[in-house]
Amino acid sequence: MASVNEEILDELTRHQVYLQRLSANTVRKVIAALNRSDARLVERLLRDDITAMSRTRQEQLLRDLRRIVESAYTDATGALRIELDALGKYEAEYQLDMFRRVLPVRFETVTPAAEQILAAVSARPFQGKLLREVYSELEASAFRKVRDNIRAGIIEGRTTDQIVRDLRGTRTQGYRDGILYQNRRSTEAVVRTAVNHTANVAREYTYERNSDLVKGVRWNATLDSRTTLVCASRDGKVYDPGKGQRPPAHFNCRSSTSPVVKSWRELGLDADELPASTRASMNGQVPADLDYDGWLRRQPRAFQDEVLGEKKAALFRKGVKVDRFVDRKGREFTLDELKRREREAWAETT
Ligand SMILES: [Zn+2]
Repeated sequence: MASVNEEILDELTRHQVYLQRLSANTVRKVIAALNRSDARLVERLLRDDITAMSRTRQEQLLRDLRRIVESAYTDATGALRIELDALGKYEAEYQLDMFRRVLPVRFETVTPAAEQILAAVSARPFQGKLLREVYSELEASAFRKVRDNIRAGIIEGRTTDQIVRDLRGTRTQGYRDGILYQNRRSTEAVVRTAVNHTANVAREYTYERNSDLVKGVRWNATLDSRTTLVCASRDGKVYDPGKGQRPPAHFNCRSSTSPVVKSWRELGLDADELPASTRASMNGQVPADLDYDGWLRRQPRAFQDEVLGEKKAALFRKGVKVDRFVDRKGREFTLDELKRREREAWAETT
């Protein structure tokens, strides 16, 4: 029988898959705000012949563009903030809910106030920076790239159309060769990292408030071909609550954490009266490293389909091995969908 700590790791591994779907959905919403402003930017650029402009009018153009970029990033981070606030609240509820479902007896848990969780999300740095600093650097660098490209274009005698093409990219390249595309990519990295940061801080804060029960925080790397060395090397490490490293370890980091709960003895309880299986389930041990193939085989069919796609999942069930845990790309969940799926997944495994 799986111990409580094994069950927790199992459930949170599934949860992390869903969080990445949420991340994809959040990215799309935020990028939509930027796309609207890119259109405005191009429209403004095409209004006059840039090369024939006086110095004063060129500076006016850059000021206008700066305002467009600023308002775009205000919209984008506003949209992101709404998503992150909802996620932060949900994540704490989810963790406590999980304790209630997984623990063999009922423990008193402390529910942190939503405002405190959100305050912690803003106040705790990742990569040595606070979220709002990351946002403002993102905006500044987005404008700088646009400005430098226009200035260089003027000096080098490019036409307005050429300058716009450098910014927007070309259709044959799917616009991936444009400066604006680079800006969207950096935004995407910030959004993904901010989602992971929010979930991890909300979780950590919840563990800290429940340190009577939680004795450690385990680092869980998503192990696949894209895993960075730093995350792979931290996989399975257990830190004291509130101490040591926490994900995200870098931009686009997909590592997460799970709590390690105390044993009966560490809780100061005499478990001798309890049935043997209940006694054994709270042994306080840290779960061994996950074998992802074995792990995914234990998951409900619907979840396997979800992760691998139906065709690959059918092969997988016929015995084809997945030695790396590869999540299907491009899947999206809204927070409501994530909540619903998690309730369903839980119902299927119990
Ligand atoms: Zn990582």
